[in-house]
Amino acid sequence: MRTRVVVLGAGFGGLELTTILSDAFGEAMDIVLIDKGDAFVFGFSKLDVIFGRQMPAEIRHPYRDIVKSGVRFVQSTVRFIDPTARRVRTDTGTFDADVLVVALGADLDPAATPGLVEGGNEFYTVPGALALRDVLPRFERGPAIIGVTGKSFKCPPAPSEAALLLHDYLVARGRRQATEIAVVMPFGTPIPPSPDTSEAILRAFAERGIRFVKDRLVQALDPKRKVAVLNDGAEMPYELFLGVPVHRVPAVVVESGLAADPFGWVPVNKKTLETRFPAVYAVGDVNGVGTPKAGVFAEGAARVVAASVIAELRGGPLPDAYDGAGSCYVEFGHGRVGRVDVNFLSGPKPTGTFQEPSDALRSEKVRFGASRLERWFGRRITET
Ligand SMILES: Cc1cc2nc3c(=O)[nH]c(=O)nc-3n(C[C@H](O)[C@H](O)[C@H](O)COP(=O)(O)OP(=O)(O)OC[C@H]3O[C@@H](n4cnc5c(N)ncnc54)[C@H](O)[C@@H]3O)c2cc1C
Repeated sequence: MRTRVVVLGAGFGGLELTTILSDAFGEAMDIVLIDKGDAFVFGFSKLDVIFGRQMPAEIRHPYRDIVKSGVRFVQSTVRFIDPTARRVRTDTGTFDADVLVVALGADLDPAATPGLVEGGNEFYTVPGALALRDVLPRFERGPAIIGVTGKSFKCPPAPSEAALLLHDYLVARGRRQATEIAVVMPFGTPIPPSPDTSEAILRAFAERGIRFVKDRLVQALDPKRKVAVLNDGAEMPYELFLGVPVHRVPAVVVESGLAADPFGWVPVNKKTLETRFPAVYAVGDVNGVGTPKAGVFAEGAARVVAASVIAELRGGPLPDAYDGAGSCYVEFGHGRVGRVDVNFLSGPKPTGTFQEPSDALRSEKVRFGASRLERWFGRRITET
């Protein structure tokens, strides 16, 4: 009988995992990839849409294009996970697995921050990015805040990138003199594991007159008074608010017993990404392995799980432990991109090395995206 692998979530983690397993086993394995959506979107593409660098249709990569031997894509919502039986119930049927991989990412909850839905613009979802794209041209004067509302959030550089790109956008529209930009973040520096990257971002902020409010969260917006209320009670006036919404463990994962509560990311064995249930793994944003929530870490985790499955089935040695290493590209504005190479799990504390923003790294970021589309969807994308 073919080994049945069921992968929940076709994001960075799920797509990488199914691709490796399909390459290794082809039709000899029965892989079911389940996602409620019909298309993959890179997180960073949302910034491209907001600032008019890409059209909404260009950033969607339909799952129907996945043609991988041994892989069946099922578009359906996962309603129930039984990790003991390795059984999953979806809107279109029930799936039993020999190996179950939970890669459902982090859910976003803008409504958890009072006033955000009514008086601000979250920019982490595609609808939020589209709405913001239409709001920006009407922003003429006054303070803009890019504010983080929860401690754990995807892509820690994204709020800083949004601020730098907003600066460029306002300069191009001739509105920068009439506006102010501030970033509110729960960290002491923009990228804590990499002092060099943090310094470069803070330097870029200082050159552009962007204020960095450290160690704070935005707790609420008061849309009537147009103020953001921080977690120390301080208030900041705003005309435009770009919010990073509260992130939560998907409810279906909490209900399964894999996670204790909405903010307790799924505990896993740090080396193998296996949960406390045998042959049930959690990869990517949904797990609590200790890496930031970013696609590159979801991919790295997926590679370790794939290697374990391959070793198990073929009887080879188990792979090296997950090292929590990855490279994140950071948009600095002016069309330039920097890079931070971080490693979270190899040493006693996280480390990061920084590469200065350049045109070459911008091209490298484009190649990063194109190479994933080629690998996951078999599609060649021409570089822009
Ligand atoms: C503005 C922004 C910029 C970013 N920039 C970068 C960057 O430059 N580099 C980087 O590495 N990362 C970046 N990220 C972060 C990155 O997008 C995520 O960390 C990454 O997608 C996580 O991968 P994942 O596989 O864990 O989850 P996801 O990619 O979120 O995939 C989870 C999938 O599960 C599906 N799903 C959820 N619940 C259900 C359910 N009940 N039933 C069925 N399907 C379900 C979802 O539809 C989704 O497709 C950025 C994110 C944002 C918002």
